[in-house]
Amino acid sequence: MGHDNILPVLYDLIVTIGSEISVKPLLTRTLQRLLYHTSFSAGFICLDVPPCSRDDGQVEVHLDAAVGDFDLIGELGKQIFLPCELICKTAEREDEQAALLSALRCTQTPYKAYLKLPIPNCGVIVLLAATIPATRLPLTTMLQPVLAHLAKAILLCRRNDAYTSGLALRRDLLEEVFESSYSAVTITDSESNIIEVNPAFTRITGYTPEEVLGRNPQMMASGRHGQDFFEEMWDTIRAEGHWEGEIWNRRKNGEVFPCWININQVNDKAGSLLYYVSMFSDISKRKEAEAQIHQLEFYDPLTQLPNRRLLMERLQQAFAVGSRTGQHGAVLFIDLDNFKAINDTKGHETGDLLLAEVAKRLRTCVREGDTVARLGGDEFVVALEYLNAISDEAAAQADLVAENIRDVLSQPYNLMNHTHHTTPSIGVVLFRGHQQSLDDVLKHADTAMYQAKTAGRNAIRFYDPVMQAAIEARADLEEELRHALDKKQLQLHYQIQVDSLRRPIGAEALLRWTHPERGSILPEHFVPLSEESGMIVSIGIWVLNAACAQLKAWQHDPLTRDLTLAVNVSAKQLHKADFVLQVQHILLKTGIRPALLKLELTESAVLEDVEDTINKMREIKLLGVSFSMDDFGTGYSSLQYLKRLPLDQVKIDQSFVRDITTDPNDAAIVQTVIAMGEALGLDVIAEGVETEAQREFLDLRGCHAFQGFLFGRPMPVEEFEAMLRASRG
Ligand code: C2E
Ligand code: MG
Ligand code: MG
Repeated sequence: MGHDNILPVLYDLIVTIGSEISVKPLLTRTLQRLLYHTSFSAGFICLDVPPCSRDDGQVEVHLDAAVGDFDLIGELGKQIFLPCELICKTAEREDEQAALLSALRCTQTPYKAYLKLPIPNCGVIVLLAATIPATRLPLTTMLQPVLAHLAKAILLCRRNDAYTSGLALRRDLLEEVFESSYSAVTITDSESNIIEVNPAFTRITGYTPEEVLGRNPQMMASGRHGQDFFEEMWDTIRAEGHWEGEIWNRRKNGEVFPCWININQVNDKAGSLLYYVSMFSDISKRKEAEAQIHQLEFYDPLTQLPNRRLLMERLQQAFAVGSRTGQHGAVLFIDLDNFKAINDTKGHETGDLLLAEVAKRLRTCVREGDTVARLGGDEFVVALEYLNAISDEAAAQADLVAENIRDVLSQPYNLMNHTHHTTPSIGVVLFRGHQQSLDDVLKHADTAMYQAKTAGRNAIRFYDPVMQAAIEARADLEEELRHALDKKQLQLHYQIQVDSLRRPIGAEALLRWTHPERGSILPEHFVPLSEESGMIVSIGIWVLNAACAQLKAWQHDPLTRDLTLAVNVSAKQLHKADFVLQVQHILLKTGIRPALLKLELTESAVLEDVEDTINKMREIKLLGVSFSMDDFGTGYSSLQYLKRLPLDQVKIDQSFVRDITTDPNDAAIVQTVIAMGEALGLDVIAEGVETEAQREFLDLRGCHAFQGFLFGRPMPVEEFEAMLRASRG
């Protein structure tokens, strides 16, 4: 390099420096260009040189760039020790320079001369030569602008390097996360075609990337979700850019599994859709574990019945329901009478089998929503819900279940080829809402159970003595009623029905039980009981027979010949499979005119099974018998089904008639019923007519048939006939 061409050299160096963006190539290229333009053969650069402070005159530096010497290049990136003087000042004399350079580990040993070019505030460039260069230009000074420029470039490149190495780090990190993630990751393009999946995806689904790339993730659909589910999901993704939830997917091997999935929409800066990224994990293990934990926590492992804890929860709920609805619930505390003996003599295995079988039988004794729980040992609890709001009725319902349980558990058990017998003692407590505490209810049921044991086992006891007495009285009554038919204690009374001119048109047959001690018992005291026990079926047949026999007897007298006779039919009776046959049989047997027989049904009896009712009514009407809807307006009649029933008459319930002249609501209801009857082409009769005002009110509004104390109370047939004769006379 000569004086005259220094400018192009500086220009070249500055262009070189300016075109680099990273420190390492910047230093190397700068060194290369320097060597090219000077007569030096090798060189190196150390940045961030520390001050020379060591005793041995050495300084530890970092070799950041080296060019032209293999050994030096081999030390690149390392920390090396150099004489302090070499770095800090320039020796002028040749022998001095050679001595300093002998410290370097170099290929071309020994270098004889060097040139030190300081980079301001940054480091130092050292150029090496085997012989002292011929020109002795003041290179340090001439290159000053280049070195200043280099200092700035190093600063910028360092920042740039830091930035890009940061990016690279992040990219590496993300890739690492993607590859090693425990969750499956699926990336799809905007058309929902899979463009990337990670190894966890393959592990979970069984599909390799090749098998899924380009396909829609729906290929994994399990078929467990409807179209609606996915539409809602996509609506959410489109609206919020995100959706998260549980989905059942299908693996390559066909297995369906639950996963928790997280779908994110990725947009570019302008907001247009680029990708969907979804992450999901297989939660089948977790679900299984949860189910197992739940099972262990809340169920008895031997019988699979709810344990005490779950029972308490269910009872809490039942208390809440009772508070809301006013309905009763009941707790039945059941203990096996000779379990300990079986367990001790036949072994635990037999004992366990017995308990499992008891659990199975208990389950068959309750309705869907009721709870059967095992408290431990041979103690079981049955919790009943939705019993009647009237406590006597609820007690009867609970008693019925308890009796059924006693029967079922008393059947022989066949365990390990041996027959065993056991009986239960059952304690019963009713509850309604939070009137008593949960603990009290269980304690009382337990007490009642011990009373059952003391009463001789295989027994049922209510905790409440009044209730127990009522149940016992009821049981006695039921027993007596069983014999009432045989003992001819049942009779029919007859209540007259009249038209607007008070002319008799018919009668209603009303059942009476003449009890040897208690005298005449009204149906309200024994009909519900006989319905529960099923006795109403045979009683009902007796009533029909007696009524038809009466109709037959009336045929001989012109006074009674044309009277119709209404007979009440209960739900249990109506829904018996052979009810139509029974009616037909009685008609044939007595040979009465069927048109004189009128069957009264209640709305609740009809509603129990509307289709069955309609079919039976049609068949019976074909025989010539007619139908009346009793207690009309007290049930939940809807016009819908009323229209479909082949009725002849509706009977306005006495509860509306009672206040008809004083209560505008009742008056309105009665008028509506009359209008409806007219519209449907039905006769209308009012029952419970006690005053002339009521009769007149009804008559004026289009009801022209009446029954009630105003015309006659229900009475034995002799009195009834006498009354007829008297009125005619
Ligand atoms: P029901 O069929 O609605 O019978 C009318 C009830 O109202 C009868 O009560 C009758 O004595 C009463 N009654 C009649 N006129 C008046 C009145 O002017 N004022 C008042 N306050 N009451 C009046 P009973 O005889 O005690 O019968 C009660 C219910 O027992 C009957 O209601 C019916 O549902 C049922 N029942 C009666 N006999 C039989 C039967 O043979 N079989 C069936 N399954 N149920 C029957
Ligand atoms: Mg009736
Ligand atoms: Mg009635």
